[in-house]
Amino acid sequence: MGSPSTPGRLTVISGPSGVGKGTLVAALLQRHPDLWLSVSATTRAPRPGEIDGANYHFFDRERFEYQVQAGGFLEWAEFAGNLYGTPRPPVEQHLAQGRPVLLEIELEGARQVRRSFPAGFQVFIKPPSFEELERRIRGRGTDDEEAIKRRLARARQELMAEAEFDAVLVNADLGVALEELELLLGFGDACHVQ
Ligand code: ADP
Ligand code: 5GP
Repeated sequence: MGSPSTPGRLTVISGPSGVGKGTLVAALLQRHPDLWLSVSATTRAPRPGEIDGANYHFFDRERFEYQVQAGGFLEWAEFAGNLYGTPRPPVEQHLAQGRPVLLEIELEGARQVRRSFPAGFQVFIKPPSFEELERRIRGRGTDDEEAIKRRLARARQELMAEAEFDAVLVNADLGVALEELELLLGFGDACHVQ
């Protein structure tokens, strides 16, 4: 079996929008550059500062749907009015090369990966409270009111699914959550976050 940081293992990080998945994963990658993070495709418009090919592959709906038909996604889902998917070839290549692979995806996608990679390790990140989740989504300042409402409605559903995951982590204090995530992923020598 081995831990999730073992070469060739697939780890899914999921949890409601705004909980801090992206923040935690970015910190994790800085500390463990051997991990490989999949870059998803999405029909969502880029946020200011987001770079095509780095944060996401920004597709129009036609291109996305073509890839769905062609079997180009490992999983895909609709989220808050947009489509998101994990391009299949790079994940398979990195796993075949023995790299530990991370996916940061929402619940429907995590369920699909559970079926296709039953041996994968799935972590659910949850907020200390729903009010704090709303504060973080609003504080991020990237979504209009309509998108915030859709994301919060979706979050209420996603938060009911934590029992489906192999591990649940509360992201209250960022440093503590990062250390807990490192331990979960088998980086047992993690001591203090700088
Ligand atoms: P997600 O990727 O889950 O949508 P983000 O990583 O974009 O969430 O985080 C949403 C907002 O919450 C960001 O402004 C981020 O800086 C902030 N944030 C993340 N973790 C914490 C934390 N532990 N405490 C307070 N704010 C946090
Ligand atoms: P955002 O628009 O905030 O970047 O992402 C919205 C949600 O889509 C987040 O919960 C994020 O984890 C999820 N997401 C990002 N990429 C993918 C993907 O490839 N597949 C799925 N299913 N969800 C994704």
